[in-house]
Amino acid sequence: MDHLSRRNALIERCEELKVDALLLTRLPNVRYLTGFTGSSACLLAGPAGSVFFTDGRYGEQSRHEVPDLLRVASTAPLLGPIREHVDRLGVRRLGFEKHAVTVGQLERWEDALDGVTLTGIGEEVERQRWTKDAEELATLRAAQDATDRAFEGILDALVVGVTERQAAARLARELTRQGADGTAFDAIVAFGEHAAEPHHHPCHRTLAEGDVIKMDFGALVDGYHTDMTRTVAFGEPAPELRKVHDLVAAAQQAGIDALHPGASAADVDRAARSVIEDAGYGDAFSHGLGHGVGLEIHEGPSLRREGEDVIPAGTVVTIEPGVYLPGLGGVRIEDVIEVAEDGSGPLGAATRELIEL
Ligand code: ZN
Ligand code: ZN
Repeated sequence: MDHLSRRNALIERCEELKVDALLLTRLPNVRYLTGFTGSSACLLAGPAGSVFFTDGRYGEQSRHEVPDLLRVASTAPLLGPIREHVDRLGVRRLGFEKHAVTVGQLERWEDALDGVTLTGIGEEVERQRWTKDAEELATLRAAQDATDRAFEGILDALVVGVTERQAAARLARELTRQGADGTAFDAIVAFGEHAAEPHHHPCHRTLAEGDVIKMDFGALVDGYHTDMTRTVAFGEPAPELRKVHDLVAAAQQAGIDALHPGASAADVDRAARSVIEDAGYGDAFSHGLGHGVGLEIHEGPSLRREGEDVIPAGTVVTIEPGVYLPGLGGVRIEDVIEVAEDGSGPLGAATRELIEL
């Protein structure tokens, strides 16, 4: 879907939201609606017309990236030009993204937009972004391909004495070597007992025989993020961790099986979580089951115990159960799954069996 169609779908919502136009300021949303990749911009969008605003640094870039919109690139504060265009378009009721605005910003807007009714709206664009179009899916697949190949590449680097930080740096290099623009987030690499921390920050711990190695990483391609976790064994793992790996893999499969268009997020979480609970490890699975990925690494829908989201076709979410055993280690297996009418499945192809190095 092109940017114009996305904007039109949003603009259609104005009537129901009881606003004449929306002022979008969250950068991933501005990117989604315009194609602009810079770090400073906002979009005024409404039935009477739309205007793209950026600061002087991005005048030239936006000329290329946002050719289909009226553009304002200003070295002065943008509120002046925004006011001008709000008046020109006859906007009396202006919606803004209340989850993305500070109190200070709102106070400045209230001053500058005197006489205009400002109405906070919820995550309208984020909700639109849940459902990926064909182009977005192709980009996510390319990112996942790079992630899969980086995973193969890192296995050779896992040798006695390597540190978590060195392995994390190598993962980042592998991702760019495989065509990624960069990393979707700082990779998590956790050896042995550190794998008991779901979000361990890589440190100088060295790899030793008998450790598990938990790696959570992903590629960034054209602004789209992937997210994958594998836990591999270095030498013979503790028998309990081997058992837990089978359990987590079974829980992940149950979650994937429960993912279909129209499923509730809570039901999908329950499908996976109950496998772990029935085995007596419920307390050791201390986070939600998954999240959407796209222009942000964490986006909706959110798959968790009390999740109220209903999952539409075309959504791309992670399924990432984990079991964490303090002092011993932990296992998480995470894949990005495309939810489709004709069956949901992983974007990637990396094995989910326990790899023993
Ligand atoms: Zn992850
Ligand atoms: Zn994740």
